[in-house]
Amino acid sequence: MLSLKTGVFVGGIKPEMLLAIAVADQVYTQFNVAFVITSVLDGVHTARSLHYVGEAVDIRIVNIPTTAIRSSIVALIKSRLGIHFDVILESDHLHIEFDPKGTAIPVTTPRPTTGQAEGRYEVARKRKTKRKVVSRKS
Ligand SMILES: [Zn+2]
Repeated sequence: MLSLKTGVFVGGIKPEMLLAIAVADQVYTQFNVAFVITSVLDGVHTARSLHYVGEAVDIRIVNIPTTAIRSSIVALIKSRLGIHFDVILESDHLHIEFDPKGTAIPVTTPRPTTGQAEGRYEVARKRKTKRKVVSRKS
């Protein structure tokens, strides 16, 4: 069963992480271990941490009874989430982040805004792009 540690803030979490959480929760449940999220956008992380943009989640591991089960859980989550998620076993928690590999994703349908033809590529990640703030006055 999924639960959040007191104080965990999820405002701004990216949809990709909901998929990761769903998969990880299923794996924990399969091993009869309570699934507790200990951090999403809250807490203090490294300067360029994906936590600050809602693309990382920390999960409790102290309730996993043995290191063997811990390893099995991590391996299964990794295999089910695939290459675009990093699943990292830290000393006191499991860190999962969305980190797509490569810099481009295929565009399978033309996009009206760009007019790019099928099969062209676009940059998948625009983390460093600043959003324009447009103020509206009526
Ligand atoms: Zn983390």
